[in-house]
Amino acid sequence: MTDERSHGLFDYFTQPELPAPTLDTNEVEALLREHFGLEASVDNLGSQQDQNFVVHDSNSREVIGVLKVSNPAFSEAEILMQNEAAQHLSDEKTTFRVPGLVTTARGELSAWWSTSHGDVHARVIEFLPGKNFMGSDYLSPSVIARMGQIAGEASVALSNFAHPASQRTLQWDLRHAQRVIALLAAQETDETVLELVRLASATAARVLDGVEQLLPRQIGHYDITDDNLIASPGSALPDGVLDFGDVMDSWAVGELAVTVSSILHHVDITPAHVFPAIQAFDALRPLDDNEIDALWPLVILRGAVLVLSGRQQNRIDDGNAYALNGLDREYRILEQALSVPPEVMAGSIRHLLGRGSATSSRWSDGRVFPEATKVAIVDAGTLSDINNDGRWKESQALVDSAQAALSSGADLAVVPAWLPILTGAPNRTPSAPDVVPTSSTIWLGRPLEMSPDATLQASEGFLTLSTHNESLVFTAPEISAASMTLPVGVPLMVSRALPGFLSSVPAAVPAALAEGWRAVLGETLSAFADEPLGTNDVDDTLELREQVLAEVQEHYYATPPRIERGWREFLIDTHARVYLDMVNNVTSVGHAHPHVVDAATKQMKLLNTNSRFNYRVVADYADRITRLLPDELDTVFFVNSGSEAVDLSLRLAMAYTGRPDIVAMREAYHGWTYASDAVSTSIADNPNALVTRPSWVHTVDAANSYRGLHRDADAHRYAPEAVAVINRLIADNRPPAGLICESYFGNAGGVALPDGYLSEVYAAVRAGGGLAISDEVQVGYGRLGEWFWGFQQQGVVPDIVAVAKSIGGGHPLGAVITRRDIADRYRTQGYFFSSTGGSPVSSAIGMAVLDVIEQEKLQENALTVGRHLKGRLEKLADEHDIIGRVHGSGLYLGVEFVRDRTTLEPATEETEGICNRLLDLGIIMQPTGDFQNVLKIKPPLCISQESADYFVDGLERVLRTGW
Ligand code: PMP
Repeated sequence: MTDERSHGLFDYFTQPELPAPTLDTNEVEALLREHFGLEASVDNLGSQQDQNFVVHDSNSREVIGVLKVSNPAFSEAEILMQNEAAQHLSDEKTTFRVPGLVTTARGELSAWWSTSHGDVHARVIEFLPGKNFMGSDYLSPSVIARMGQIAGEASVALSNFAHPASQRTLQWDLRHAQRVIALLAAQETDETVLELVRLASATAARVLDGVEQLLPRQIGHYDITDDNLIASPGSALPDGVLDFGDVMDSWAVGELAVTVSSILHHVDITPAHVFPAIQAFDALRPLDDNEIDALWPLVILRGAVLVLSGRQQNRIDDGNAYALNGLDREYRILEQALSVPPEVMAGSIRHLLGRGSATSSRWSDGRVFPEATKVAIVDAGTLSDINNDGRWKESQALVDSAQAALSSGADLAVVPAWLPILTGAPNRTPSAPDVVPTSSTIWLGRPLEMSPDATLQASEGFLTLSTHNESLVFTAPEISAASMTLPVGVPLMVSRALPGFLSSVPAAVPAALAEGWRAVLGETLSAFADEPLGTNDVDDTLELREQVLAEVQEHYYATPPRIERGWREFLIDTHARVYLDMVNNVTSVGHAHPHVVDAATKQMKLLNTNSRFNYRVVADYADRITRLLPDELDTVFFVNSGSEAVDLSLRLAMAYTGRPDIVAMREAYHGWTYASDAVSTSIADNPNALVTRPSWVHTVDAANSYRGLHRDADAHRYAPEAVAVINRLIADNRPPAGLICESYFGNAGGVALPDGYLSEVYAAVRAGGGLAISDEVQVGYGRLGEWFWGFQQQGVVPDIVAVAKSIGGGHPLGAVITRRDIADRYRTQGYFFSSTGGSPVSSAIGMAVLDVIEQEKLQENALTVGRHLKGRLEKLADEHDIIGRVHGSGLYLGVEFVRDRTTLEPATEETEGICNRLLDLGIIMQPTGDFQNVLKIKPPLCISQESADYFVDGLERVLRTGW
């Protein structure tokens, strides 16, 4: 061994500049032949400090592995330690893969090479195929959680690994971060960078100085980052870890800090987005109290070291593209890390992990206004009545509420800090809005004496009240230095005196960080009222739901927001986040429409009973519905849902014809009742749908001109084939009672049936004496824009029409409309009675929904906004191959995602991912279709063009930056 090979462990501080080796590929190929007997060609990969190549077999072009030429600064022991640590993780049976050394007939491919650049250590390790998470594309919460889980597993597995070389001193050891920063800052010339780095250093030291002696140490990987994680082909989640170059002994919590910091530069990521990683790490390797305090300072330090060393590497190693590409990202990491004080992050993390609560910092010096006995707490949250009827959009509603409380005799009105405020909240925000106030706001109803124990100090706009332990600051422009009193009837912001390390605090923060800020800033409500305040606790609604509802009664999203309010095309969660609802065709006229609410309330106060009584509104409503339809459809049955409407339609046809057989189109959904389920063959709803059909159901091909058997110009073939099925039944002496299908293919995402399709099949079924049933549950009632009913698009008139969903605007209401002679024949089945079908309240609501559709011209809105929306979506399709086609009409649109525009392989997992990311951007959207690869775009018909644009902009962002 030469001296060079046996030198001691690497010490960054004696050798801070580490240009990566720069062997050229010809030399490397010759050395591979000479030392490892490989006939291979190599491609250079990037690396900060080593030189890496992919090695291909020259003949077969197959990948042999990755050649790592180590930086000559590292000793052999350190290089061997990397191999052993990787082997140790394999032995510990972690759930992720690590690359081992490649072995050939010559043994392991690992040796010292003498090169034109001196002696270097070279080894070939396994190539893990797949994609890494480089670049700054979006990382989903599940990828982030998996990153934390991998870091946790590695930490646990390596906690029993020992190696003498682990005592090396690397610049990436967060124990030395402050020294590294000082060293590199001395060479830095950019003042902006230096300022940020100094802030980082001081902020981290503020917390770390108190805990660093107490942090547990161990050997770790310490570089489990987006760049070093691989997802094998077909997997969306990382399942492989590369690059053991930073294995060393350090603070155990550094493992997580490194992983977390690598998340922070990705698109749309804020500090709260890393919580799934912290949770997942903690579940495997619980963080102790000091580690919770230390985590964020270490993230900050990692950011600062990355920025400075990236810039240094770039200076000394001109043209290292790998280092150059990282500069922006590293800067973003640091900026994000510094965007929230570490104490706030620690508080938030404690809350997240269920360790300790914020209430320890309650105001404990008694009531500030002892004579104020009537204290009104104004709740401005999502569930509060003050936000009804759209008033949540105006912040004035909150002021009005406080004033109203004072007018009705309250001494004091308080809007408490730490509870989300919906009133005045922004709508359609691409991230969680800052709606949790960090200070309380109070209004005095009359001049109030303050606690005699308090001392006061006033200046323009501020009054500070101090008791023996604590201080409260009241802020309002009306406060004057001359007077030691608080003004009456105006909003006064109240907060505790800030802890010394904070110079300012945002007025409001997002819900995810509220408990962290609360832990730092403390409580003020107890200064004014005895009422205990809730916390922004993790909500147990979903757990309760899962406990008591049948599992098959599914919910949207794996972790859905808790939605408790709706208004027009908006849905609002309990954290006062206002989402855009792009999926709710049931709420056709918009959520909480005042006219519908009024009609329901008024009728509820008058009468609500079963439909056998003689009251006016059911007659008026039935009459009104028939006027919307062709003359012959003159008789109405009222039920409570689409399933019931379909079920009844089928039974009407059977009763009319005296036959049991029904023809239904495949890939449809018609309902869950026995008969409506029997004619439903969508495999998305029931994978066994086709094989479990009762013998009375006969199916015809789904006439889908995009992905069905006959496509585009060939779609005219569906009708004759369906006619042949019907004719065969007639010939076999089983003429069908009727044929049922949607008049516009809703379940496939709004695909129009081929021109003339319904004329042909209706004629065939009628020729055999059967009836034509149109399921208009989804597509009817103005949604298609151009046509009020789907069957109008086909230029036909059915014998029976089934409607529901939108006709009740969210209230359970369904109807079947048919000819008088068909309705009359139902007598043969006995009698028809649906207790609440067409009840006074249902009928009044049905009338009100029609009023709104007419008065607000919602069909026209569907046409104009729908046209604009479809146009924009089609443009998006020009830029993104994943969009196979944009289907639909009006406000029933479908964006169909495919992996390949020729094979039309459905992009099912992608569609789910896209929907999840859209939720993150504030948009509610769900997949539809047999392959769940179509976005079902069917917002309330009152949607504005602005909202439609927000949706397309959001979708564009998702398609461009990932999901
Ligand atoms: N028909 C169609 C076309 C539907 O889409 C649905 C519901 N998705 C139904 C019938 C059943 O309606 P409901 O859920 O109101 O029973």
